[in-house]
Amino acid sequence: MNEMKEAASSCNACKQCAPLGACIAFKGIEGALPMLHGSQGCATYIRRYLISHFRETMDIASSNFSEETTIFGGNRNFNTGIDNIISQYHPQVIAIASTCLAETIGEDVQRLIYEYQATHEEVPEMVFASTPSYQGTHYEGFHEAVFATVKTLAKGKASDNPLSLHQLNLFCNLISPEDIRHLKEIAADFSLKTMIFPDYSDTLDGTSWDSYQRIPEGGTTIEAIENSPWAASSLELGYILNATLTQSAGEYLQNAFGVDNFRTGLPIGIRESDKFFAQLSALSGKVIPLKYQKQRGRLVDLYFDGHKYVSMKRAVIYGEEDLVVGLAAFAAETGIKPVLCATGGESGTLQQTLREVLGDLYSEEIIVGQGMTFEAMEAAIHDLDLQPDLFIGNSKGYYLARKLDIPIVRAGFPIHDRIGAQHNRLLGYEGTTILFEQIVNTLLEDKQRKSSVGYKYM
Ligand code: SF4
Repeated sequence: MNEMKEAASSCNACKQCAPLGACIAFKGIEGALPMLHGSQGCATYIRRYLISHFRETMDIASSNFSEETTIFGGNRNFNTGIDNIISQYHPQVIAIASTCLAETIGEDVQRLIYEYQATHEEVPEMVFASTPSYQGTHYEGFHEAVFATVKTLAKGKASDNPLSLHQLNLFCNLISPEDIRHLKEIAADFSLKTMIFPDYSDTLDGTSWDSYQRIPEGGTTIEAIENSPWAASSLELGYILNATLTQSAGEYLQNAFGVDNFRTGLPIGIRESDKFFAQLSALSGKVIPLKYQKQRGRLVDLYFDGHKYVSMKRAVIYGEEDLVVGLAAFAAETGIKPVLCATGGESGTLQQTLREVLGDLYSEEIIVGQGMTFEAMEAAIHDLDLQPDLFIGNSKGYYLARKLDIPIVRAGFPIHDRIGAQHNRLLGYEGTTILFEQIVNTLLEDKQRKSSVGYKYM
């Protein structure tokens, strides 16, 4: 691998802040209201950013730090904030994430929660995720929130009726609401009673309302999370998840309650989807339904149809680490060469994971960049003469793609310059079908646009 340059400061980072990721995960708990312990500006930025992607209303509370709070601690603001949330929102769960400022002054949020619970009656469940942005990206924040929620709510208390319990905990990773719905459909087709977490398929992609819902309907129920220790197994989608955590939610349930934990990657492309469907088949004891065998067959046929248009094309792939792994695995099996795999994450395991997942399709020529900025990506493209034909990633790469006059296929988070990000489907054979068609058509469109003659047959 070629060495990437290190910079003392970063410009246009390929990541977002950690509590932002935590808020997405918290939106997947039924009846939850996220609260940021810190300054108002953090909540405003995060709300604005999420609204632009999901196109939904976004209530996120803040304890609203001032100069005084920063010096003497945020105890009073925290209590007032919780009082206001309870009286105005009546949530089932208050899901708290810390901002950089709260972490920098060493605020002990667990103690604040304990003291509030000890001095008040009828307090909703309270979950806390520690999310300093200088220690991770939105991706780490997301997984910290998933872990903190399960650790807090999964108390090991069985339901009175064991038959009502679900069989599988499916930790779905940071995916679109549409992909969450698709995973539910797949699990149901295997007759697996499944808790999918976090489930923001309704809360972040709702219907139109007659009156404003301060906490939108939907989300994984508290009961399901409480009962997660009694599932037969857990399945986590993603190989890397949060490398700064000592254990993931699935590992926690395995270590604390003996729930078998399995991992596959995000099922993008045929090979990774095959692994996912094989895992579900093993967990359910059922053969893969004909519906998915046919979807796979149609995808193989589509690969034949489009192969000549994508073969040897050179792609820059960027985003969260597990998304990069999934997209690179998909690209490589179609004949597209991933020339730069870039992420703002810093797990230190991206290259090794790519090597293992791509297997015989892995090339030592792939440049793998962690802790990347778009500035660094531009330098790598120039300095290493990568000559990409295509960008695959979120809309933050648009300026660079435009500057280099390279087409971009939008995937992942955030997508701010198109509508419908909440409906983007990447997962499974059907999601891959949509993605592959998008890529082929984007390349064809780019070729037509740059051609000196107009043509319509290929
Ligand atoms: S100060 Fe930290 S938590 Fe707040 S918006 Fe900036 S990076 Fe995010």
